[in-house]
Amino acid sequence: EVQLAKELAEKKDTAPETIFDKIVRKEIPSKVVFEDERVLAFRDVSPQAPVHVLVIPKARDGLTQLSNAREDQEALLGHLMYVASRVGKDECPEGFRIVINDGKHGAQSVPHLHLHVIGGRQMQWPPG
Ligand code: C5P
Repeated sequence: EVQLAKELAEKKDTAPETIFDKIVRKEIPSKVVFEDERVLAFRDVSPQAPVHVLVIPKARDGLTQLSNAREDQEALLGHLMYVASRVGKDECPEGFRIVINDGKHGAQSVPHLHLHVIGGRQMQWPPG
């Protein structure tokens, strides 16, 4: 187990970078809602609701999708969720939804972990 943890820790993020890296570096403009040294929250270019914000880690570091998270990234995952909750609370006083699409069946299109914060209207259940 120690060996596995070591291998994972040393594993390089070799996946090609995505448009989100350009957004993080401000090479592509975005409407930033919140940022700190670890995360960036910005408005989705194709909003599915009156409020649609993406919260991403600035450094992908292997987090192409949630299911690739390492144990040493637990604090970062918690921070992403905390920031998403603050955005939701600020912008959607009547409630909101947080979505993480993972992989093909999850309908993930950008391989850089992102939390969708969606609100400002009544959500339905089940999702499509
Ligand atoms: O979960 P999924 O990978 O499908 O979400 C990717 C999201 O990134 C989409 O909601 C899409 O509109 C958004 N996006 C964006 N700006 C881009 C490219 C994609 O906000 N330049």
